[in-house]
Amino acid sequence: MESPLLPAEPMLWSGWGDPARAAELPAPVRELLTELLGVRPPAAPAATFGEVRLPPAALPQAVLAALAAVTGEEHVRADDDARIRHTRGKSTPDLLLMRAGDASDAPDAVVLPGSHEEVVEVLRLCAEHRVAVVPFGGGTSVVGGLTPARRGFAGVVALDLGRLDRLRSVDPVSMTADLEPGLRAPQAERLLAGHGLTLGHFPQSYEYATLGGFAAARSSGQASAGYGRFDDMVVGMTVATPRGTLEIGRAPKSAAGPDLRQVFLGSEGAFGVITSLRLRVHRAPAVRAYEGWRFETFAAGTAALRRLAQEGAPPTVLRLSDETETMVGLAKPTDLGTPGGDSGCLVVAGFEGAPGDVAHRREHAAALLVEAGGVHLGPEPGEKWAQGRFSAPYLRDSLLAAGATVETLETACFWSDLPRLYDAVRLALLGALRSPSGGAPLVMCHISHVYATGASLYFTVVTAQTGDPLAQWAAAKRAAGEAIVAAGGTISHHHGVGRDHLEAYAAEIGDLGGEILRGIKERLDPAGILNPGVLIPVY
Ligand SMILES: Cc1cc2nc3c(=O)[nH]c(=O)nc-3n(C[C@H](O)[C@H](O)[C@H](O)COP(=O)(O)OP(=O)(O)OC[C@H]3O[C@@H](n4cnc5c(N)ncnc54)[C@H](O)[C@@H]3O)c2cc1C
Repeated sequence: MESPLLPAEPMLWSGWGDPARAAELPAPVRELLTELLGVRPPAAPAATFGEVRLPPAALPQAVLAALAAVTGEEHVRADDDARIRHTRGKSTPDLLLMRAGDASDAPDAVVLPGSHEEVVEVLRLCAEHRVAVVPFGGGTSVVGGLTPARRGFAGVVALDLGRLDRLRSVDPVSMTADLEPGLRAPQAERLLAGHGLTLGHFPQSYEYATLGGFAAARSSGQASAGYGRFDDMVVGMTVATPRGTLEIGRAPKSAAGPDLRQVFLGSEGAFGVITSLRLRVHRAPAVRAYEGWRFETFAAGTAALRRLAQEGAPPTVLRLSDETETMVGLAKPTDLGTPGGDSGCLVVAGFEGAPGDVAHRREHAAALLVEAGGVHLGPEPGEKWAQGRFSAPYLRDSLLAAGATVETLETACFWSDLPRLYDAVRLALLGALRSPSGGAPLVMCHISHVYATGASLYFTVVTAQTGDPLAQWAAAKRAAGEAIVAAGGTISHHHGVGRDHLEAYAAEIGDLGGEILRGIKERLDPAGILNPGVLIPVY
């Protein structure tokens, strides 16, 4: 996969991505949305940057001065620009709040440490002064992972890890690389490309998300079938906690007790700050080939994906869109607004690697997909998907501006539960988002992460905004969450827990599970300053 150019910095404060790529929906698409979904322009235009309401910064001057003594004055920022750009993450509710000019969750200051030692010292100071600390990577959380509970704290600082952006070393014998957590994915890929290597981690948030965020939220990229999830790539890490430093991972696998890496993978900044990662790397692929296949039904496509996952040598990228997603063309975001070309369900299969390996896996996959009822569509749908793979988040902004509510959610389960989970979540979303006038929302789904034993389901909804789109989505999300729990799915396959999934996560791990997490938290972070209110169930 070719790394797109490193986009402009900083990210659009009220939406996704490179501000230069923000675009209005073409008029025919707006008309289609009105006709099909009843979408009308929102009552009020989005707030401008100058109109954003920001609470007064609460941190005492003495604390700011102490932090500045650690990192240097220029790396402690309490200006409006820094505070607004570190407010919340990039879920649709986050964007709706920012579009409404609400920055009430802004941190009081943004601190940018330049080394592991500075992180340790900042944590020590914040614990002493009871200041909450939110580790901040790319700011792309979609589960409220950057919105701490401030009650009981003297203030909140966002700990922006952007200055920790080095490739520290490469071990070409072990095929590992030591990288710092503030590296954004394209920066990391560019540095590794200099050594002929790749991580192979390409989530849709690729342009802005960081390595630390991937580890802390257990991210999974679009090429997970071939390169694995991000947590599979982490072989070692350094973590700064208010109680000191942990160095974890001295061998790829170990029988020396429980694997402490797993305590910090997915810990969402609540147990410590990841300041370095040792990651498994791959040789940059010599060949990349993407192609499309068509299946009559989602069920038939699902059965084919399962066989590919279970019978060895799967493609590097493997995804199946359901009938609605295929019809709308969201499977190929560059084609949005030209529906009707494809019927059935689109499978995108992408192969990356050495020529012989790619040829072998393509042949194996083709034989299996044909046997399972697939029709080969050639390279075009696959290449189109690859070109448009990072476009959908920009489209979300355009849809919000046009008056649509658009959001995604994801889950995972074992293969045998998958049809039931798919139906349950779809029905829950359709029911919760049906407009009073009877208009049905668009509910689309794809499978894009497969394992021998199960897969994830990723839903996207588009519907007409009501007068209160936040409440509208909250009701839909609640209904979908209940359906996931009832149908035996996990509340998140790769977005994490944050604040949004706390209740369902608590139910998923049970009382004793919650107690274990609280025990770890109390040991590592006795003052409770790290990302309070995120991840840890409180009873
Ligand atoms: C448009 C869009 C598309 C997305 N697509 C995908 C996708 O395809 N796959 C996927 O997995 N996710 C996806 N996400 C979710 C998000 O990008 C991931 O959760 C990602 O891992 C977050 O990385 P980040 O650097 O932005 O972290 P942030 O959002 O800054 O932080 C995420 C959490 O990790 C904590 N954290 C961050 N850095 C550290 C650190 N160094 N040490 C300790 N804690 C830390 C934060 O406190 C927070 O709780 C998407 C999000 C958006 C907005």
